[in-house]
Amino acid sequence: MKALRLRLVPSLGTVLLAAVATANVTLWLVARPPGQPTGRYLGELLGAEAVLLLSCALVLATILPTIERAFGGLDRVAVWHRRAATVAVLLLVPHLLLATSAADRYATQVGSGFGVVALLGLGVLSVWALAPRLRATRRPGLVRRLAGIGYERWLSVHRLSGLFVIAAVAHGALVAPALHASMLLRVTYLAVGGTGVAAYAYRELLARFVFPAHDYTVSDVRRPNETTTEVSLEPVREPLAFVPGQFVVLSFGGTSGWQRHPFSVTSAPYDRRLDVSIKAVGDYTHDLHDKLRRGTPAKVAGPFGGFDYRRGGHDQIWIAGGIGITPFMSWIRSLDGSFDRSVDFYYSVRRRADALYADEIEAAARLHPTLRTNVVVTEREGLLTAEQAANGRPRGTDVSVFMCGPPPMMTAFAEGFRALGMPASQVRWEQFDIR
Ligand SMILES: Cc1cc2nc3c(=O)[nH]c(=O)nc-3n(C[C@H](O)[C@H](O)[C@H](O)COP(=O)(O)OP(=O)(O)OC[C@H]3O[C@@H](n4cnc5c(N)ncnc54)[C@H](O)[C@@H]3O)c2cc1C
Repeated sequence: MKALRLRLVPSLGTVLLAAVATANVTLWLVARPPGQPTGRYLGELLGAEAVLLLSCALVLATILPTIERAFGGLDRVAVWHRRAATVAVLLLVPHLLLATSAADRYATQVGSGFGVVALLGLGVLSVWALAPRLRATRRPGLVRRLAGIGYERWLSVHRLSGLFVIAAVAHGALVAPALHASMLLRVTYLAVGGTGVAAYAYRELLARFVFPAHDYTVSDVRRPNETTTEVSLEPVREPLAFVPGQFVVLSFGGTSGWQRHPFSVTSAPYDRRLDVSIKAVGDYTHDLHDKLRRGTPAKVAGPFGGFDYRRGGHDQIWIAGGIGITPFMSWIRSLDGSFDRSVDFYYSVRRRADALYADEIEAAARLHPTLRTNVVVTEREGLLTAEQAANGRPRGTDVSVFMCGPPPMMTAFAEGFRALGMPASQVRWEQFDIR
């Protein structure tokens, strides 16, 4: 099939990220104080760049709505958070080699100690964060074991990353001779590091007050199949306002002890009731499937994310895989006379019995003829491909793709659409696995 139209539009967020990273290097190159040996100065430059990228990663981790908008989706924020942090940690290796290549009279035990703590802490946390991806390439031993540790435990430890960034900032401020020699470099460095630390403090201490949880009560629990729990929640006071496609962070009272997990809303915003559909994939979600009862108190924080088809053009492809149907249900339940997109909607499930909401989706398609739905039962028809989903669209077609489903499926589609010449900026996906 011919390539779809190539329209490379980097998001505002990536442009800003590239701009601050480049500006920092440029500043260090033009503001080099006299008397700094080249090797050591280069090492300090790399250390300062690592601190800048780590600060950016912490800013992205706040997932503030403006950041999510600037990057064009939470999936992209997660990707750039990971990329910024990974590059930063890799830079620490040449930083260490070069920064120690000449004597440093500021290298006190305390200052160097902060550096060792930061290097070891960030190194271990990065390998742990990337372990599931590294495991895919069959890395043995420790990486395999780290990848096997549960998400909750990983997240609790990962949230300590900010403390290691604080150690890194303190290390640079204490031991870097260039920062002692140049006021401009020192002020910039502290402003950059301070921004990262402030973002971390916001995320860990203040975010819960900025997005306070709403009190709800479970009003209904349905179990349409052996792995899915559909939950309806009634607000105790005012209902949460959200845009279709957004997700909330939900915690239920009772034996599960108020663990916080993200779930996409499936109901429409005009409904006072809030619905979610939960697939049992791990301990917590299995527990909900077995034990969640009507009357259980719940806390709903958010809303978060911006998975919204109205941000795409006229011609669209929607792809849902399994439980990835949830954000699409909120869209479909919110459709009214103003719906003006032309959509090929593919809902891929393993067995026909897994196709939750199939009747409701077909009823919506009858009401809105420009929404063309296809339920793909892979056990019978094989896996849907990007080429099939593109449905013979000729070269030059300007099409927006929205997808949500299991990570391997999303990766396969992203690669498939790229092979068809479609730029990543036209393909949005809601990521249920944000590690
Ligand atoms: C934006 C978003 C929207 C989601 N919407 C839905 C939905 O509508 N329906 C649905 O069934 N699932 C949804 N999920 C996935 C859901 O959050 C996880 O399946 C659930 O948290 C698994 O918890 P567990 O302890 O049972 O499983 P585990 O085995 O502990 O975790 C399985 C995977 O779920 C993810 N996960 C686990 N705990 C968390 C957490 N606290 N925060 C973030 N991710 C976590 C991790 O990727 C982990 O690898 C969504 C996830 C995200 C990020």
